[in-house]
Amino acid sequence: MSQEHQHEWIVFSTAVNIVSLLVRCECGAVGLVKAPTAKEWGRAFHAPSHPYPWKEPQRVEILEGWTTEKRIYPKGYNVVRRTGPDSLI
Ligand SMILES: [Zn+2]
Repeated sequence: MSQEHQHEWIVFSTAVNIVSLLVRCECGAVGLVKAPTAKEWGRAFHAPSHPYPWKEPQRVEILEGWTTEKRIYPKGYNVVRRTGPDSLI
């Protein structure tokens, strides 16, 4: 039995100023999906209220030491919780 944990990513928000999707795993790990397609970016608009699975783990860049439990976002990432079209930057 391998103890290696396979992350199961869920898109839960977006980082607007770097145009990346934010994904998290149940274990608390957080990652970025950089350079999403327009379709992926559009879908992620609803992620804060409707999180959904992310099926391309190879595109996830894990943010070391960053967990959703701490609710800390890295400096400069300016994570914006978009609640509707009016909140788009
Ligand atoms: Zn995990």
